[in-house]
Amino acid sequence: MVDIAVIPGDGIGKEIIPRVCEMLYSVDQSLNFVYYDISSQRYINNGITVTDKEINDLKGYKSIFFGAIGDFRVKPGIMEQGVILKLRKELDLYINIRPAISFKKITGNEINITVLRENMEDFYSGISGTFTGTKKFRKQDGMYNYDIDISGTADNAIYYTLGMLSERNLNRFFKKAYEIADSGIITVTDKANAIEMYSLWREIAGKQSSISKKKINFEYADSLAYNIIKNPLKYTYIIAPNLYGDIISDMTSSLAGGLGYAPSGNIGDKNSIFEPVHGSAPDIAGRDIANPVASILSSIMMLKHIKMNEPASIIEKSLKNIINDGIIPIESGGPYTTSGFINQVVKRATLLNNEVE
Ligand code: ATP
Repeated sequence: MVDIAVIPGDGIGKEIIPRVCEMLYSVDQSLNFVYYDISSQRYINNGITVTDKEINDLKGYKSIFFGAIGDFRVKPGIMEQGVILKLRKELDLYINIRPAISFKKITGNEINITVLRENMEDFYSGISGTFTGTKKFRKQDGMYNYDIDISGTADNAIYYTLGMLSERNLNRFFKKAYEIADSGIITVTDKANAIEMYSLWREIAGKQSSISKKKINFEYADSLAYNIIKNPLKYTYIIAPNLYGDIISDMTSSLAGGLGYAPSGNIGDKNSIFEPVHGSAPDIAGRDIANPVASILSSIMMLKHIKMNEPASIIEKSLKNIINDGIIPIESGGPYTTSGFINQVVKRATLLNNEVE
Protein backbone atom coordinates (compact mmCIF):
# COMPACT_ATOMS: atom_id res chain seq x y z
CA MET A 1 0.00 0.00 0.00
CA VAL A 2 1.17 3.55 -0.75
CA ASP A 3 -0.34 5.98 1.76
CA ILE A 4 -1.08 9.50 0.60
CA ALA A 5 -2.51 12.19 2.90
CA VAL A 6 -5.31 14.20 1.30
CA ILE A 7 -6.45 17.68 2.32
CA PRO A 8 -9.32 18.74 0.01
CA GLY A 9 -9.79 22.02 1.96
CA ASP A 10 -12.43 24.48 0.75
CA GLY A 11 -14.53 25.41 -2.26
CA ILE A 12 -13.57 23.72 -5.51
CA GLY A 13 -10.77 21.86 -3.68
CA LYS A 14 -13.49 19.86 -1.91
CA GLU A 15 -15.22 19.20 -5.21
CA ILE A 16 -12.23 18.22 -7.32
CA ILE A 17 -9.72 16.46 -5.06
CA PRO A 18 -11.80 13.43 -3.90
CA ARG A 19 -12.79 12.78 -7.54
CA VAL A 20 -9.18 12.94 -8.68
CA CYS A 21 -8.29 10.47 -5.90
CA GLU A 22 -10.97 8.08 -7.21
CA MET A 23 -9.48 8.50 -10.68
CA LEU A 24 -5.98 7.66 -9.35
CA TYR A 25 -7.35 4.62 -7.50
CA SER A 26 -9.05 3.36 -10.66
CA VAL A 27 -5.61 3.27 -12.32
CA ASP A 28 -3.65 1.89 -9.37
CA GLN A 29 -5.29 0.08 -6.45
CA SER A 30 -2.15 0.13 -4.33
CA LEU A 31 -2.89 3.78 -3.49
CA ASN A 32 -4.45 4.44 -0.09
CA PHE A 33 -5.84 7.92 0.56
CA VAL A 34 -6.04 9.17 4.16
CA TYR A 35 -8.28 12.25 4.41
CA TYR A 36 -7.69 15.20 6.76
CA ASP A 37 -10.42 17.77 7.37
CA ILE A 38 -8.23 20.86 7.48
CA SER A 39 -10.55 23.56 6.17
CA SER A 40 -12.04 27.01 6.74
CA GLN A 41 -15.36 25.38 7.65
CA ARG A 42 -13.68 23.56 10.52
CA TYR A 43 -12.02 26.83 11.60
CA ILE A 44 -15.43 28.54 11.56
CA ASN A 45 -16.92 25.69 13.62
CA ASN A 46 -14.24 25.35 16.28
CA GLY A 47 -11.38 27.84 15.70
CA ILE A 48 -8.80 25.22 14.69
CA THR A 49 -6.47 25.88 11.74
CA VAL A 50 -4.16 22.89 11.98
CA THR A 51 -3.22 20.99 15.15
CA ASP A 52 0.25 19.91 16.27
CA LYS A 53 -0.94 16.30 16.09
CA GLU A 54 -2.00 16.76 12.46
CA ILE A 55 1.37 18.30 11.61
CA ASN A 56 3.12 15.38 13.27
CA ASP A 57 0.90 12.89 11.39
CA LEU A 58 1.49 14.67 8.08
CA LYS A 59 5.25 14.46 8.61
CA GLY A 60 4.81 10.69 8.28
CA TYR A 61 3.70 10.89 4.62
CA LYS A 62 6.07 11.26 1.71
CA SER A 63 3.33 13.06 -0.21
CA ILE A 64 0.27 15.14 0.62
CA PHE A 65 -2.37 15.97 -1.99
CA PHE A 66 -3.86 19.37 -1.26
CA GLY A 67 -6.86 21.19 -2.78
CA ALA A 68 -7.32 24.80 -1.74
CA ILE A 69 -7.92 26.86 1.37
CA GLY A 70 -9.91 30.09 1.40
CA ASP A 71 -13.33 31.28 2.54
CA PHE A 72 -14.70 34.84 2.58
CA ARG A 73 -16.10 34.28 6.10
CA VAL A 74 -12.56 33.99 7.49
CA LYS A 75 -10.34 37.07 7.78
CA PRO A 76 -7.70 37.02 4.98
CA GLY A 77 -4.37 35.70 6.16
CA ILE A 78 -5.61 33.39 8.94
CA MET A 79 -5.89 30.22 6.87
CA GLU A 80 -3.09 31.16 4.45
CA GLN A 81 -0.60 31.73 7.26
CA GLY A 82 -2.19 29.27 9.72
CA VAL A 83 -2.32 26.35 7.28
CA ILE A 84 -0.53 26.76 3.94
CA LEU A 85 2.54 28.72 5.01
CA LYS A 86 2.69 26.81 8.31
CA LEU A 87 2.72 23.43 6.56
CA ARG A 88 5.40 24.59 4.11
CA LYS A 89 7.57 25.76 7.01
CA GLU A 90 6.90 22.83 9.38
CA LEU A 91 7.50 20.24 6.67
CA ASP A 92 10.53 22.23 5.43
CA LEU A 93 9.33 22.28 1.81
CA TYR A 94 12.04 24.52 0.44
CA ILE A 95 11.37 24.37 -3.29
CA ASN A 96 8.17 25.03 -5.17
CA ILE A 97 7.84 23.61 -8.69
CA ARG A 98 5.34 25.33 -10.97
CA PRO A 99 5.20 23.96 -14.52
CA ALA A 100 3.29 25.93 -17.15
CA ILE A 101 2.94 23.53 -20.05
CA SER A 102 0.21 24.35 -22.52
CA PHE A 103 -2.13 22.06 -24.41
CA LYS A 104 -1.95 23.30 -28.00
CA LYS A 105 -5.61 22.44 -28.57
CA ILE A 106 -6.56 24.88 -25.78
CA THR A 107 -4.07 27.74 -26.18
CA GLY A 108 -2.77 27.41 -29.73
CA ASN A 109 0.78 27.84 -28.38
CA GLU A 110 3.44 25.47 -27.09
CA ILE A 111 4.60 27.01 -23.84
CA ASN A 112 6.82 24.80 -21.71
CA ILE A 113 8.20 26.81 -18.79
CA THR A 114 8.75 25.54 -15.26
CA VAL A 115 9.28 28.05 -12.48
CA LEU A 116 11.38 26.78 -9.56
CA ARG A 117 10.56 29.07 -6.66
CA GLU A 118 12.46 29.36 -3.38
CA ASN A 119 9.81 28.56 -0.79
CA MET A 120 11.09 29.48 2.69
CA GLU A 121 12.71 32.92 2.81
CA ASP A 122 12.92 36.24 0.95
CA PHE A 123 10.01 38.56 1.91
CA TYR A 124 8.06 35.62 3.36
CA SER A 125 10.26 35.53 6.46
CA GLY A 126 7.15 36.04 8.62
CA ILE A 127 8.93 38.84 10.46
CA SER A 128 6.90 42.03 10.08
CA GLY A 129 5.11 44.75 12.05
CA THR A 130 4.72 48.47 12.66
CA PHE A 131 6.06 50.89 15.30
CA THR A 132 6.75 54.53 16.10
CA GLY A 133 9.48 54.39 18.76
CA THR A 134 12.78 52.55 18.55
CA LYS A 135 12.64 48.86 17.95
CA LYS A 136 15.30 46.33 18.57
CA PHE A 137 15.19 43.33 16.28
CA ARG A 138 16.64 40.16 17.63
CA LYS A 139 16.52 36.88 15.77
CA GLN A 140 18.31 33.86 16.99
CA ASP A 141 17.66 30.30 15.89
CA GLY A 142 19.42 27.51 14.05
CA MET A 143 19.62 29.65 10.91
CA TYR A 144 19.92 33.31 12.06
CA ASN A 145 21.61 35.34 14.80
CA TYR A 146 21.52 39.15 14.77
CA ASP A 147 20.44 42.45 16.49
CA ILE A 148 19.27 45.67 14.73
CA ASP A 149 17.83 48.96 16.13
CA ILE A 150 15.43 51.03 13.94
CA SER A 151 13.64 54.26 15.03
CA GLY A 152 10.27 55.70 13.92
CA THR A 153 8.47 58.80 15.27
CA ALA A 154 4.82 59.68 16.00
CA ASP A 155 4.43 61.37 12.58
CA ASN A 156 6.57 58.84 10.74
CA ALA A 157 5.51 55.31 11.67
CA ILE A 158 7.56 52.44 10.33
CA TYR A 159 5.96 49.42 8.65
CA TYR A 160 8.34 46.64 7.87
CA THR A 161 8.74 43.12 6.58
CA LEU A 162 12.18 41.65 6.63
CA GLY A 163 13.42 40.01 3.48
CA MET A 164 16.17 37.55 4.17
CA LEU A 165 18.19 34.82 2.57
CA SER A 166 20.52 32.35 4.22
CA GLU A 167 23.49 30.51 2.76
CA ARG A 168 22.44 27.11 4.06
CA ASN A 169 18.95 27.32 2.60
CA LEU A 170 20.13 28.73 -0.75
CA ASN A 171 22.77 26.03 -1.14
CA ARG A 172 20.22 23.23 -0.75
CA PHE A 173 17.65 25.12 -2.87
CA PHE A 174 19.97 25.62 -5.87
CA LYS A 175 21.32 22.09 -5.58
CA LYS A 176 17.77 20.72 -5.82
CA ALA A 177 16.75 23.23 -8.52
CA TYR A 178 19.61 22.14 -10.79
CA GLU A 179 18.73 18.47 -10.24
CA ILE A 180 15.18 19.23 -11.42
CA ALA A 181 16.22 21.49 -14.34
CA ASP A 182 17.49 18.68 -16.53
CA SER A 183 17.02 20.14 -20.01
CA GLY A 184 16.63 23.33 -22.01
CA ILE A 185 17.55 26.84 -20.96
CA ILE A 186 17.98 27.68 -17.26
CA THR A 187 17.37 31.31 -16.31
CA VAL A 188 18.10 32.56 -12.78
CA THR A 189 16.26 35.75 -11.89
CA ASP A 190 16.54 38.38 -9.09
CA LYS A 191 16.91 42.12 -8.58
CA ALA A 192 20.56 42.05 -7.57
CA ASN A 193 20.94 45.52 -9.14
CA ALA A 194 18.53 47.06 -6.61
CA ILE A 195 18.29 44.79 -3.56
CA GLU A 196 21.55 43.93 -1.95
CA MET A 197 20.68 40.56 -0.44
CA TYR A 198 20.36 39.09 -3.94
CA SER A 199 24.15 39.29 -4.31
CA LEU A 200 24.18 36.19 -2.09
CA TRP A 201 21.50 34.64 -4.30
CA ARG A 202 23.72 35.20 -7.38
CA GLU A 203 26.84 33.97 -5.69
CA ILE A 204 25.27 30.68 -4.60
CA ALA A 205 23.41 30.26 -7.91
CA GLY A 206 26.78 30.47 -9.65
CA LYS A 207 28.62 28.24 -7.20
CA GLN A 208 26.01 25.46 -7.30
CA SER A 209 25.74 25.65 -11.09
CA SER A 210 29.48 24.93 -11.38
CA ILE A 211 29.13 22.00 -8.97
CA SER A 212 26.13 20.64 -10.92
CA LYS A 213 27.78 21.48 -14.26
CA LYS A 214 24.69 23.38 -15.41
CA LYS A 215 24.89 26.35 -17.75
CA ILE A 216 22.76 29.23 -16.51
CA ASN A 217 21.77 32.74 -17.60
CA PHE A 218 21.02 35.57 -15.15
CA GLU A 219 18.19 37.97 -15.96
CA TYR A 220 16.73 40.72 -13.75
CA ALA A 221 13.10 40.08 -12.81
CA ASP A 222 11.74 43.18 -14.57
CA SER A 223 13.49 42.34 -17.84
CA LEU A 224 12.35 38.73 -17.48
CA ALA A 225 8.70 39.78 -16.99
CA TYR A 226 8.91 41.80 -20.22
CA ASN A 227 10.64 39.09 -22.24
CA ILE A 228 8.44 36.20 -21.08
CA ILE A 229 5.44 37.91 -22.64
CA LYS A 230 7.37 38.89 -25.79
CA ASN A 231 9.08 35.58 -26.37
CA PRO A 232 7.98 32.77 -24.03
CA LEU A 233 9.61 30.06 -26.14
CA LYS A 234 13.04 31.38 -25.07
CA TYR A 235 12.54 29.96 -21.55
CA THR A 236 12.51 26.43 -20.11
CA TYR A 237 13.37 26.69 -16.40
CA ILE A 238 13.19 29.90 -14.40
CA ILE A 239 14.75 29.85 -10.93
CA ALA A 240 13.33 32.65 -8.78
CA PRO A 241 13.29 34.00 -5.22
CA ASN A 242 10.03 33.50 -3.32
CA LEU A 243 8.23 36.75 -4.13
CA TYR A 244 9.23 37.10 -7.80
CA GLY A 245 8.58 33.38 -8.25
CA ASP A 246 5.00 33.86 -7.09
CA ILE A 247 4.37 36.64 -9.60
CA ILE A 248 6.30 35.19 -12.53
CA SER A 249 4.64 31.78 -12.19
CA ASP A 250 1.20 33.42 -12.39
CA MET A 251 2.34 35.07 -15.63
CA THR A 252 3.57 31.79 -17.09
CA SER A 253 0.41 29.95 -16.04
CA SER A 254 -1.66 32.63 -17.72
CA LEU A 255 0.32 32.10 -20.96
CA ALA A 256 -0.25 28.34 -20.72
CA GLY A 257 -4.04 28.36 -20.46
CA GLY A 258 -4.86 29.90 -17.10
CA LEU A 259 -5.26 28.87 -13.48
CA GLY A 260 -7.29 25.81 -14.38
CA TYR A 261 -4.15 24.30 -15.99
CA ALA A 262 -1.48 25.24 -13.41
CA PRO A 263 -0.20 22.48 -11.09
CA SER A 264 2.46 22.76 -8.41
CA GLY A 265 4.61 20.76 -6.02
CA ASN A 266 6.25 21.87 -2.76
CA ILE A 267 9.23 19.65 -2.14
CA GLY A 268 11.47 19.03 0.87
CA ASP A 269 13.94 16.28 1.71
CA LYS A 270 11.30 14.16 3.49
CA ASN A 271 7.83 15.45 2.65
CA SER A 272 6.03 17.05 -0.27
CA ILE A 273 2.70 18.73 -0.99
CA PHE A 274 1.17 18.74 -4.46
CA GLU A 275 -1.62 21.21 -5.18
CA PRO A 276 -3.23 23.22 -7.98
CA VAL A 277 -2.03 26.84 -8.08
CA HIS A 278 -5.61 28.12 -8.04
CA GLY A 279 -7.51 28.82 -4.83
CA SER A 280 -10.92 27.74 -3.59
CA ALA A 281 -12.74 29.81 -6.28
CA PRO A 282 -15.86 30.49 -4.17
CA ASP A 283 -17.52 32.19 -7.15
CA ILE A 284 -17.85 28.87 -9.00
CA ALA A 285 -17.75 26.33 -6.13
CA GLY A 286 -20.53 23.75 -5.76
CA ARG A 287 -21.63 23.88 -9.40
CA ASP A 288 -19.51 21.12 -10.92
CA ILE A 289 -18.01 23.59 -13.42
CA ALA A 290 -14.42 24.01 -12.12
CA ASN A 291 -11.63 22.84 -14.38
CA PRO A 292 -9.99 19.78 -12.75
CA VAL A 293 -6.90 19.75 -15.03
CA ALA A 294 -4.62 21.65 -12.60
CA SER A 295 -5.39 19.08 -9.89
CA ILE A 296 -4.96 16.15 -12.30
CA LEU A 297 -1.58 17.53 -13.40
CA SER A 298 -0.60 18.00 -9.73
CA SER A 299 -1.51 14.37 -9.06
CA ILE A 300 0.68 13.26 -11.99
CA MET A 301 3.61 15.24 -10.53
CA MET A 302 2.93 13.58 -7.18
CA LEU A 303 2.95 10.05 -8.64
CA LYS A 304 6.24 10.78 -10.43
CA HIS A 305 7.72 12.15 -7.21
CA ILE A 306 6.93 8.91 -5.38
CA LYS A 307 8.31 6.95 -8.35
CA MET A 308 4.94 5.58 -9.49
CA ASN A 309 5.88 6.31 -13.08
CA GLU A 310 3.58 3.80 -14.75
CA PRO A 311 0.22 5.10 -13.45
CA ALA A 312 1.57 8.66 -13.87
CA SER A 313 2.27 8.11 -17.55
CA ILE A 314 -1.10 6.41 -18.18
CA ILE A 315 -2.97 9.37 -16.66
CA GLU A 316 -0.75 11.87 -18.47
CA LYS A 317 -1.33 10.14 -21.79
CA SER A 318 -5.08 9.89 -21.17
CA LEU A 319 -5.30 13.58 -20.34
CA LYS A 320 -3.38 14.61 -23.46
CA ASN A 321 -5.38 12.25 -25.68
CA ILE A 322 -8.82 13.37 -24.54
CA ILE A 323 -7.96 17.07 -24.87
CA ASN A 324 -6.58 16.40 -28.37
CA ASP A 325 -9.86 14.64 -29.14
CA GLY A 326 -11.76 17.80 -28.21
CA ILE A 327 -12.86 16.95 -24.69
CA ILE A 328 -12.63 20.47 -23.30
CA PRO A 329 -13.54 21.72 -19.79
CA ILE A 330 -16.17 24.43 -19.35
CA GLU A 331 -13.46 26.96 -18.32
CA SER A 332 -12.00 26.76 -21.83
CA GLY A 333 -15.32 26.96 -23.64
CA GLY A 334 -16.08 23.21 -23.84
CA PRO A 335 -19.08 21.36 -22.40
CA TYR A 336 -17.25 19.16 -19.87
CA THR A 337 -18.12 19.56 -16.19
CA THR A 338 -15.66 18.76 -13.40
CA SER A 339 -17.04 15.25 -12.94
CA GLY A 340 -17.72 14.72 -16.67
CA PHE A 341 -14.12 15.57 -17.56
CA ILE A 342 -12.64 13.32 -14.85
CA ASN A 343 -14.90 10.46 -16.01
CA GLN A 344 -13.45 10.84 -19.50
CA VAL A 345 -9.89 10.58 -18.13
CA VAL A 346 -10.86 7.41 -16.23
CA LYS A 347 -12.48 5.92 -19.35
CA ARG A 348 -9.41 6.61 -21.50
CA ALA A 349 -7.01 5.38 -18.78
CA THR A 350 -8.98 2.12 -18.56
CA LEU A 351 -8.65 1.67 -22.32
CA LEU A 352 -4.90 2.37 -22.23
CA ASN A 353 -4.45 0.09 -19.22
CA ASN A 354 -6.19 -2.74 -21.07
CA GLU A 355 -3.94 -2.18 -24.10
CA VAL A 356 -0.86 -2.44 -21.86
CA GLU A 357 -2.14 -5.72 -20.40
P1 ATP B 1 -8.87 31.99 -2.83
O1 ATP B 1 -9.27 33.04 -1.85
O2 ATP B 1 -9.10 30.61 -2.31
O3 ATP B 1 -7.48 32.19 -3.39
P2 ATP B 1 -9.90 33.27 -5.21
O4 ATP B 1 -11.21 33.22 -5.92
O5 ATP B 1 -9.42 34.57 -4.68
O6 ATP B 1 -9.88 32.13 -4.08
P3 ATP B 1 -8.79 31.61 -7.17
O7 ATP B 1 -9.53 30.49 -6.55
O8 ATP B 1 -7.39 31.33 -7.55
O9 ATP B 1 -8.76 32.82 -6.21
O10 ATP B 1 -9.64 32.09 -8.43
C1 ATP B 1 -9.39 33.25 -9.21
C2 ATP B 1 -10.39 33.25 -10.39
O11 ATP B 1 -10.08 32.15 -11.27
C3 ATP B 1 -11.85 33.04 -9.95
O12 ATP B 1 -12.70 33.83 -10.74
C4 ATP B 1 -12.09 31.59 -10.20
O13 ATP B 1 -13.43 31.29 -10.49
C5 ATP B 1 -11.18 31.26 -11.40
N1 ATP B 1 -10.70 29.87 -11.27
C6 ATP B 1 -9.76 29.42 -10.40
N2 ATP B 1 -9.57 28.11 -10.52
C7 ATP B 1 -10.40 27.69 -11.49
C8 ATP B 1 -10.69 26.41 -12.06
N3 ATP B 1 -10.05 25.30 -11.65
N4 ATP B 1 -11.62 26.33 -13.03
C9 ATP B 1 -12.25 27.45 -13.45
N5 ATP B 1 -12.04 28.68 -12.96
C10 ATP B 1 -11.12 28.81 -11.98
